[in-house]
Amino acid sequence: MATTPAFKTTRDSEVFLSMLMQPSHSNFGGKIHGGYILSLMDQIAFACASKHSGTYCVTASVDTVNFRNPIEIGELVTMKASINYVGRSSMVVGIRVESENIQSGFVKHCNSSYFTMVAKDEAGDTALVPGLVLATESDVNRFLKSVRRLEAKQQNRKIQESLHPLSPTSLALLEGYNIRLNLTDQHE
Ligand code: GDP
Repeated sequence: MATTPAFKTTRDSEVFLSMLMQPSHSNFGGKIHGGYILSLMDQIAFACASKHSGTYCVTASVDTVNFRNPIEIGELVTMKASINYVGRSSMVVGIRVESENIQSGFVKHCNSSYFTMVAKDEAGDTALVPGLVLATESDVNRFLKSVRRLEAKQQNRKIQESLHPLSPTSLALLEGYNIRLNLTDQHE
């Protein structure tokens, strides 16, 4: 791995993108395709992470993409991205997606998502990333929220791993769901 990099601010790597939504980006229902929005978000996450790390980056995971409001053809979609958190070689890029009706000026919040990106060196190994200067209350808040999300994920994973899917505790958790338990096809 390379020598320890210096620190950078969230401002150093922020990325903004505005795009007018074209009919070719719509789905069969006439709204903008969620997959198209996701692909733009992945690109902006890559650009932001790459600006911070100064390296090539890959997407490791995406935390919750809830499409809160549909996006119409002809609207102006704006994405704002910044680094929320850095580890040794990972970065969490937060992205806020808004869509504006350019005639009325009405702006709606479409989603906010958090992409975990990993820096890679030229050999394809993980690379160290610069530390993050937290210069505003919002920087501190976003960093802490990322830490809490990571901890909740780890906690969830531990619970999941400690429970056998067919243990009485696990089966009790299935009560009340819209399912029918039919384990006759089990091969294990
Ligand atoms: P937050 O994460 O609680 O602040 O939720 P928001 O929905 O306000 O924003 C989601 C993410 O989008 C933030 O974590 C930031 O990474 C990014 N973001 C929001 N507003 C801005 C902005 O004005 N500039 C930049 N560069 N990024 C922003």
